[in-house]
Order: sequence, then structure tokens, then C-alpha cells
Amino acid sequence: MSSETTLRAELIRLTRDLMVIESTDSRPAERARCFQLLRNYLDEVPGVVLKSHYFQGYESLLVLPQGIEHPEILLNAHLDVVEHPQSECYRSEVKDGRIVGAGSGDMKGQLAILLELFRKWHCATPGLSLGLAVTSDEERGGEAGVKCLVEELGLRCGVAIIPDGGSLNRITVEEKGVMHLRLTARGHSSHAARPWLADNPLERLVNRLPEVLKWFAGQQGDVGRVEEGDPHWYPTCSVTMMETPNDSVNCVPEVATAALDVRFPPPWTVEQVMEKLGSLLGEGIELEVMIAAEPSHLAPDKRFVELTAEVTGEEVDLIHASGGSDGRFFAQQGIPVILSRPEVGNLHGEDEWIDVDSMLVYFDICDRYILEKIGSKS
Ligand SMILES: [Zn+2]
Repeated sequence: MSSETTLRAELIRLTRDLMVIESTDSRPAERARCFQLLRNYLDEVPGVVLKSHYFQGYESLLVLPQGIEHPEILLNAHLDVVEHPQSECYRSEVKDGRIVGAGSGDMKGQLAILLELFRKWHCATPGLSLGLAVTSDEERGGEAGVKCLVEELGLRCGVAIIPDGGSLNRITVEEKGVMHLRLTARGHSSHAARPWLADNPLERLVNRLPEVLKWFAGQQGDVGRVEEGDPHWYPTCSVTMMETPNDSVNCVPEVATAALDVRFPPPWTVEQVMEKLGSLLGEGIELEVMIAAEPSHLAPDKRFVELTAEVTGEEVDLIHASGGSDGRFFAQQGIPVILSRPEVGNLHGEDEWIDVDSMLVYFDICDRYILEKIGSKS
């Protein structure tokens, strides 16, 4: 068998072994089992130290060459996957050149690639300045994972490779900022038959939210821009939850809450978005910030961009991304981040997929990058 055939088979096997573990937020035991699989895979690698760190109950596995705290290249992935009610969807199948199933493209397939790269390089060149960090809370914001590794543990590197955004020939250079906000309106519970006596907090929310949505809709500028190719590079807002503690129809609730997911490009800042929301919502609605992150400049290494073009034979687009990634925590420290990945689709769906050929191409790009950047020094 050629080495490419072996690599292909190995990547498929490893991806599917990782996928069958339901490492979701509600299943800490499964996340622990997934980490155990990684340790089993990595503990024979010569010259590296495996260490688990726990922040707010979430494990992160850091694998570094002996004596090197700040590797020149850090490979980074998350092993948590989004929740699905049916556990059948965590099984996978290989169909039409793709690995199909929950977690394949976000990002067990990429995790498999990084594990293979890491093992290959350290077996060939022990002591190479190449690290690996795997976290388990990216889908809920990364605050207990990469953020703590970087801000509390002081993890640093020359460049971070995170295959969790963009695509093969689309490398992300900038990501929108993100805010998750909880809005709370308070009133008095009373009988719904006498609304003139009630100060209904749910209606207050329902009446004010359209003002917010209208303002955000206005940010997209000409209506004509919402077409194919529109990078949506303007602030957006989604109302994602609305709740009262009420369980009877004839009762005015005493409190009502809503949750907003707001995304914004520069020059908007967290502070400006808060100010704007405050003025749009007016008095009587409390605003609580759950997550706030400024937009990030990822500054990918130009050589990675060039190597991508060389290997794929196609031009590379440098793109703006509406979603955020763990890359922002590195970017905040001025560390360049390379955010591209194999071809994936239906992310967070039950039929999520990753294309196997493009996994090999992505592997090849990273492999050449590692060789050029640090492989020839050792
Ligand atoms: Zn992801």
C-alpha cells in the first residue's frame, strides 16, 4: 500500500473512532473518554509531555515537547460536539468520499489530522517545537478552554493552526466580535383578565425588541447586498430565547427574559454595541452580558497562504467570518492564527460531513508548512 492509502485509511478510522464518542456538553463522562482515547494515541510519542488542565470542570489536554513551554507551532482543536437527541447520529458512514455523521466536520475529522501530523512529526524528529492543545468547551464559547490556557496558564506559541473555520482555499483573516446578552424585564404577576392593572414585562420585551431588530436590519445597507457573495460584514442580531416562569395562560408573569446573539465587525466595539442596545431598549429592561469578545484580526502567516495555493493549484481567498472561533483568544495576545480547514458541510446537523480527499490535501499543506517552518531546523 502506498503511504497515501495508509494515511487515508488511518484518518478515516481515527475520525470515526472519535465520532462514536458522544462528547457533548451534557456528557462529561464521554468527553473524559474521548480524552482517554487521545492519551492512548499519544502516550507512545517520543519526547513529549502530556498534561491535562481543568478549568471550570472542563478538561484541556496540552501536549508539548519536553522542555518547551512555548512551541513555535501549536496545533489546536476541540473535541466537544453539539448535542443531538438521537445517539444514532454519532455513528458515521463513509459515503461518496465523505465521512458523514455528527461531529465529522466540527471537528473530529480535523482533530484526527492534527493527531496524525503531531505523531508523525514527533516520531521522526523528537523535540521538534510543535505543540498540540485539545479543549472541550468550544461549542459553548471556549471560555473554560483556550481562553484559560492562554490567559491563566500563559500558553503562548509562534503561530496557532486551528482548522475550525474557512475552507481549504478560504483562509479567515478577520472574525466578527460576539456578544451573548440576557435581557430581563420585571413587573408584577396579576390576573390576565385585568390587563389595565398589570405592568406586563413580557409585553414590554415584545414591544421593544422590534426596535432592536429594525436597527440591525438597517445596518446591512442596501437591500440588494443580501445576495450571494455578500460577506454580511455588518452587525447582526438574533433573538434566540424568550422565557417566563409562567405556567398558566390567564396570568401576567412577573418577569420575562430574552437572549440575544449579536455579531459585529470592526470598527464596532463591545462598548459601543452595549451603548447602542441600551439606547434602543430604553428604561425598564436590564441588560446582562454573558459573553463579550471584540472582533479579531487573525493575521495568518503568508507562507501558509502561499503553500495552500501551491498544493491546491488554486487561488486563496482571504475571508471575513461572521462566526467566532477559539482563534480570538490567541489573536488577543498578538499570536497569528491560521484558520482554514478541509471541505466540510451541514455543520451542527445530523448529516454533517467532511470530504476525505480534502482532508489529505489539508494534511499535506500543514505537513509542508511544518517542514518549512521548523522541520528543517532540527
Ligand atoms: Zn468547532
